[in-house]
Amino acid sequence: MEVKISNRIVSKVTMKCPSCHKGNMFTNKSIFPLKDLLKMPERCPVCNQKYEIEVGFWYGTGYVSYAISVATIFVMAILYALTVGFSYKNSSIYFFIGVMISALVILQPWIMRYSRVLYLYVFVKYGQSKKLKSA
Ligand SMILES: [Zn+2]
Repeated sequence: MEVKISNRIVSKVTMKCPSCHKGNMFTNKSIFPLKDLLKMPERCPVCNQKYEIEVGFWYGTGYVSYAISVATIFVMAILYALTVGFSYKNSSIYFFIGVMISALVILQPWIMRYSRVLYLYVFVKYGQSKKLKSA
């Protein structure tokens, strides 16, 4: 059971299909070219799991990317408070906001991809495509 859970995490991090943990969810491994950032095969090349389960399925990822962004800001604020520290006496808060906005812009391609990965993992369980085939 423990192995299964960690496999699921590894597959999420490496953006693999939620059903077989083998097929790549995105056509290009690299985020470049950026215009193909979210290019995905219609189905998993390994187990034939459909990625866009229904039309407009990916609209829900907006909430996921929002949650990831908020979590990123939260973690960065804690790290910043522990290392640099916030103070009313200087402009550290403005510096932090600048760093945070740049970081979120730079991280955006990965946030967009991982929100799709996490979102699909909510709906597709391991081995689901096999169950569909046998049914
Ligand atoms: Zn698959």
